[in-house]
Amino acid sequence: MSAVRVLVVEDEASFADALQVGLAREGFEVNVVHDGAAALEAFDRCPVDLVLLDLMLPKLSGVDVCREIRTKSTVPIIMVTARSEEIDTVVGLEVGADDYVTKPYRLRELVARMRAVLRRVDTPSSLPDSEGPVGIDEDVPNAGRVQVGNVVVDRDRHEVIVEGAVVPIPLREFELLAFLMENAGRVLTRDVLIDHIWGYDYVGDTKTLDVHMKRIRTRVEKDPKNPNLIVTVRGVGYKVERLTPS
Ligand code: CA
Repeated sequence: MSAVRVLVVEDEASFADALQVGLAREGFEVNVVHDGAAALEAFDRCPVDLVLLDLMLPKLSGVDVCREIRTKSTVPIIMVTARSEEIDTVVGLEVGADDYVTKPYRLRELVARMRAVLRRVDTPSSLPDSEGPVGIDEDVPNAGRVQVGNVVVDRDRHEVIVEGAVVPIPLREFELLAFLMENAGRVLTRDVLIDHIWGYDYVGDTKTLDVHMKRIRTRVEKDPKNPNLIVTVRGVGYKVERLTPS
């Protein structure tokens, strides 16, 4: 298997150098750029499996870079911030980042987060693009496909289809929606959802889950404020109702 390609966007030389050396030692193929504009240029030029994105950057902020990448790709993005630059976690997640690391961090911690995000996407790094898993099983054409109401989640194609139209969705939201839909009719507790998506060792704000749900609802619900597909079970968790296609 070829190395996982990481685009590191970091303007501070000390961090950039440490990441270049440290991540290469961990077996990653590292491309470092130092500002937001260069990040987008590099992203368009060479396919990558993961983007490590500093928040405060010259030319274009990490938030802008993230937002721009999300218009064309579901590649995993980990945002990096310094404590002094504290951005609301929610902002980072709303622009489509998959995870979040605060400086200073240990390389070991960062690598663990990177591997966790990559495990979830499970994209062979030899693919010409990193748009999602392929390898559709010809014998079982609809194996990874679930439909509830007028929403279809297709794991093989990594697609969400609402009323017949493909809706772009970041990786984590996709995973959450797929997991809920595959368990339609069952209430999934907050703990179960967080464990499934972020891992049992997730330490962080549980508000993150609600932010993701809110985002998913804006993509799949007719009226996100009065959802009829994904319902909140107060004090417990969430449930996808068993709707029939209309
Ligand atoms: Ca910076």
